[in-house]
Amino acid sequence: MRDFHPPVLLKGAAVMPELPEVETIRRELEPLISGKTFADPLLQMPSTIEHPDSAEFIASLSGRRVKNLSRKGKYLLINLDRGVLAVHLRMTGNLTYYDGAPQQDIRFLRLTLPFTDGSALYFSDMRRFGRVWLVEDETELKELVLKRIGPDIINDIDCETFRQQLGSRGKSRIKALLLDQGFAAGLGNIYTDECLFRCGLHPRRRVQTLNSAETEELYRAIRDVLAKGIEHGGTTFRDYRNARGAIGDFQSYLAVYGRKGELCSCGSVIEKSVVAGRGTYYCPSCQAELGED
Ligand SMILES: [Zn+2]
Repeated sequence: MRDFHPPVLLKGAAVMPELPEVETIRRELEPLISGKTFADPLLQMPSTIEHPDSAEFIASLSGRRVKNLSRKGKYLLINLDRGVLAVHLRMTGNLTYYDGAPQQDIRFLRLTLPFTDGSALYFSDMRRFGRVWLVEDETELKELVLKRIGPDIINDIDCETFRQQLGSRGKSRIKALLLDQGFAAGLGNIYTDECLFRCGLHPRRRVQTLNSAETEELYRAIRDVLAKGIEHGGTTFRDYRNARGAIGDFQSYLAVYGRKGELCSCGSVIEKSVVAGRGTYYCPSCQAELGED
């Protein structure tokens, strides 16, 4: 496996928060809000609430207490004494926490979730795709929020399960499959490109051409790249901020993502093309394409 590239400067682009960004927020928020009780929420943009309708959301969230925080793929789950508050940041959503009033205006504020002690969570979102759900139990969570979401790629899948699941999707191209949240939840465009580079796999490789060693190396690379992403507080392009409003620094360690035209550590020029409908970065030498269709 290749090591991470020395720091590079990235050009800004709107990038969807992936597992490491959401996990970073979860870890930071949990000690800050566990045990706190929600007061009346303020809806700056009611369509941010996917379920229930906004009047019911306001009436029902107030008085519920935060037990702990968990995560499924890219969904942040705030587990309450009754029900779950689920958040998906989508493209540009940010969830920030302040003990008191924020020192400055929060741009693109869509939802304010105050606690009874005067602290609050602020959901801001320039592109307005982020969504919040309040559900009453696990059944509603599965049916209304996580219906098409597969097992979490870090928490729910061991190497053997990964191997079996790949086996059932042999015709798929590897990048498309890893992006499919129904197959496994958590990977997005950035981390998928980084994982495939580390294993020397071309993003268009068909899953059925992977041998046993390649499958195992891919599994380990996914875990390793995501763990490093979490360790570095996530990847920050233009929009992502952690729960304290600070930026992550994993972007300094990306080997191929966002580096079209730059040199790979092998000396070849990093290329970008569209795979699975997404801009995909890879090294044509380290990740040679097989002669398949
Ligand atoms: Zn290379």
